[in-house]
Amino acid sequence: VKLSPTRVGSIVKDMIPMLRNEAIMRGVIVHYEPWTEGPLILADKEMLKQVFLNLGKNAIEAMDGGGVLTVRERRGAASEVEATVDIIDTGPGIEQEYLERIFDPFFTTKEQGTGLGLSICRRIVHEMGGAIQVETGPEGTMFSIALPTLASSD
Ligand code: ADP
Ligand code: MG
Repeated sequence: VKLSPTRVGSIVKDMIPMLRNEAIMRGVIVHYEPWTEGPLILADKEMLKQVFLNLGKNAIEAMDGGGVLTVRERRGAASEVEATVDIIDTGPGIEQEYLERIFDPFFTTKEQGTGLGLSICRRIVHEMGGAIQVETGPEGTMFSIALPTLASSD
């Protein structure tokens, strides 16, 4: 891990075009809600980009017949010292019986899946002192990644 001060938005912005390419082939619309002038975080940019890409791809793959992928940056709900990114899809949701296993290595419900994406995402986020949460229901799924911000001097 190579940590440097960065704005979460600059990482998310970089990977939006890649997600749009994936989305367009599946009839998925991508909404991006940036938080301009968000706080600085201490992060490994490349690894964090992989996290958002993985979550975005999962979201797109969950929307078979098209849908909307929303990527939203916001202040953390729990604390003033968090930057949060929500990855929201309008897919069918995750069945309750699977929910506690989705972060397990090799757990997949896809024919060609590796089941490694979420376990790697969670490890990276935890290494940066952050947290990853999921909320799901028949209307869709939201993964939220909360990352600690650098103490500001102003
Ligand atoms: P893979 O994508 O290779 O299956 P992941 O670790 O990325 O592995 O995801 C594990 C499983 O979690 C998926 O196979 C799927 O069942 C479930 N999952 C992840 N994200 C979503 C989502 N946005 N909507 C519905 N199910 C999801
Ligand atoms: Mg995946």
